[in-house]
Amino acid sequence: MEGPRRVAPWAPPRARRRLAELEARLAGQDADQVVRTVTGALAGHRRAFDEDGIVLYAGTNTMSPRALAAHDAAVSGRPSMGWPGDKYQTGLDHLDVLETLAPLQVAALMEGEFAEVRLQSATLANLACYTAFARPGDTIAVLPEAAGGHASHHAQGVAGVRGLRVADLPYDAAAFSIDHARLPGFLERERPALVVIGASLMLFPHDVAAVRAACDEVGATLVYDASHVAGLIAGRRFQRPLEEGAHVLTMSTYKSFGGPPGAAIVTRDEALAERVSAAAYPGLTANYDAARLAPLAVTAAELAETGPDYADACVANASALAAALQEAGFAVVAADRGWTASHHVAVDASDLGGGDAAARTLAEGGVYLSGIGLPGRAEPLPGLRIGTQEITRRGFTPPLMCDLAALMRRLLLDHEPPADVRPATTTLRHSLP
Ligand SMILES: *Cc1c(COP(=O)(O)O)cnc(C)c1O
Repeated sequence: MEGPRRVAPWAPPRARRRLAELEARLAGQDADQVVRTVTGALAGHRRAFDEDGIVLYAGTNTMSPRALAAHDAAVSGRPSMGWPGDKYQTGLDHLDVLETLAPLQVAALMEGEFAEVRLQSATLANLACYTAFARPGDTIAVLPEAAGGHASHHAQGVAGVRGLRVADLPYDAAAFSIDHARLPGFLERERPALVVIGASLMLFPHDVAAVRAACDEVGATLVYDASHVAGLIAGRRFQRPLEEGAHVLTMSTYKSFGGPPGAAIVTRDEALAERVSAAAYPGLTANYDAARLAPLAVTAAELAETGPDYADACVANASALAAALQEAGFAVVAADRGWTASHHVAVDASDLGGGDAAARTLAEGGVYLSGIGLPGRAEPLPGLRIGTQEITRRGFTPPLMCDLAALMRRLLLDHEPPADVRPATTTLRHSLP
């Protein structure tokens, strides 16, 4: 018997079913019960996801042991507002060290001069750029959603929150590239204050220099959203957006970068940095979580040493996995271009019931990833997106990619019951140190 719903009764049907089941079990718990419940949920998650599962989801990672050890949950509960040496609160002098060290490390690693590291997510980092470089009613030009343009670039996300008009950049779906022939005319017509490139699916680099030259013709600021590829860029692989001409780079710190959740905004230009900074504080934050900066600084410092090898290993795994998947019978996207130049691989899942359904089948077998849009395709999530960043950190090497492709073949092409395949997933995961 369903009682009244309190948690998002407006959610989509699949979520409503899950919420109804959980609410019936969880409503009205006392403190002891809540502690037991959350402890059990966290342990179950750790086992299923971190220990037994194979995580191919592109938007996540596992932190290094030193970065994990540097996170102090108690410090997260200490509000910190203002500048080192000039805080609203007193007694936070030791946190000043984190607040100086983290931007120094991140800026140097990403080939910038200035880094804003206080924002809690890349969505907010993008909003800070919209706040700094555009006014309500201005136009911004972004990648189409089918080409991986992120919600935070589009009207349903923070671009809409800022009251911006959003225009899709001309895109050549067959070439997996911005349509450079049409770009100048488009910019002349649309006159965007801001052009945002970088996407949620990044198989190949952008021609940043060409986009910057076109932006200069119309006075637009060029933002490169490196959320997914920041870890490769840190290793000086894939591409070097600031060196190639982007005015500003925004990034998630927890995807291929492999740090704590949060964002950074990096630039070489002090005037731009100052505007971003004002948007971040006192614009979008007052107090913020300075504890996050400890694992962020450690992650950046580690990447300065290991980034090139890590990036090479991520890309080698992606290429090997793409080849193995193709061999296993999957339709790997961009075959004529060598599938990928990054840690991402995309599979056309049209014949597998679509990307979302395929991802759910894989999850039942302990392999975790997501659906994704594909350039030039109208239907929602026709593809499967794979990221090799986490399995690379866990020690997977190209020879194991055949085993991984075989698991995916058994689940999606051979239609074996996921419960029969799951032990093989766990065995493969446990075969690593
Ligand atoms: C993931 C992502 C973001 C948003 O990052 P959050 O930290 O989740 O807000 C922004 N842009 C792109 C291209 C992304 O892939």
